[in-house]
Amino acid sequence: MSLIVTGTIGIDTVETPTGSAKEIPGGSCAYFAAAASCYTPTRVVAAVGDDWPADHRSMLESFPGIDLGGLEERAGSKTFRWGGKYLDNMNDRETLFTDLGVLEEAPPAIPAEFQDSEIVFLANTHPGVQRGFLEHLPNRKFTVADTMDLWINIARDDLVGLLGEIDGLVINDSEALLLTEQRNPFTAAKAIMDMGPSVVVIKKGEHGAVLVTSDGVAVLPAYPADEPMVVDPTGCGDSFAGGFMGWIASRGNWDFAELQSAMAWGTVSASFTLGAFALEGLQGLTMEQLEERMACYQAAARVGQTTIV
Ligand code: AMP
Repeated sequence: MSLIVTGTIGIDTVETPTGSAKEIPGGSCAYFAAAASCYTPTRVVAAVGDDWPADHRSMLESFPGIDLGGLEERAGSKTFRWGGKYLDNMNDRETLFTDLGVLEEAPPAIPAEFQDSEIVFLANTHPGVQRGFLEHLPNRKFTVADTMDLWINIARDDLVGLLGEIDGLVINDSEALLLTEQRNPFTAAKAIMDMGPSVVVIKKGEHGAVLVTSDGVAVLPAYPADEPMVVDPTGCGDSFAGGFMGWIASRGNWDFAELQSAMAWGTVSASFTLGAFALEGLQGLTMEQLEERMACYQAAARVGQTTIV
């Protein structure tokens, strides 16, 4: 089934306890598309300014499954920029700056040839803008969104409106707490389901993720990544979502068992993002490499003789 993503394409500056990188390719949409495109062709709708570096474009173009037909490069506009710093545990981070730039202008248009998209991912951006895209996607069958602390704090009403119109939400545990005031991830997920979505995924960083739907609950561990393997966790949430939605679009099915498999593929995709700055961990990634890592993940997640993922 056709997969479309809207969100940010940005210029990131990242500091970790072991290294730093300035003005590298990033953005919620970029990480999502890079991961999803390993599973299925992925249509991108986003806007950047005329300061967007040519090598950032080449990086995205190097992913054969990404269709940049909905990418607007706007003369006179500034690309979204974000800076973040990871704490010693490589799990928690501080946002150092967010320059919204082109995000403060009219959202990009969804090209006519993308308007038949069936599987929709609304990667992180203003929830009012996320909601606006839905009007132009009349064939959507399964729509999932991501959000974050900034939008919960400054655009809660828009977010609550969006939740009433979508099928799924992918959110991390601290953001679920901020949104629902519930610390327990299962209780938080149920509170989110009361706002609309029937599928809720709560990500817990190095502690894995939980899936809650009306058909059941699943818990999945994170990929067992030791310290040398973790270079930069930026984009892990988005590439988790990319693997998750890419798998669903490739299967054309989102029943409970398929959602649970999608969580495992999302986890494996995110493990490649961890290993390098920007999109480099996902560049050139093949299905064979993903399958190989999936086999390691399944072995690590086995309980007795039973594979739990
Ligand atoms: P993640 O680590 O999965 O949360 O995603 C990090 C990516 O999200 C970075 O590449 C940022 O450019 C992008 N990002 C950071 N803040 C925002 C925001 N408020 N809205 C949309 N994208 C953002």
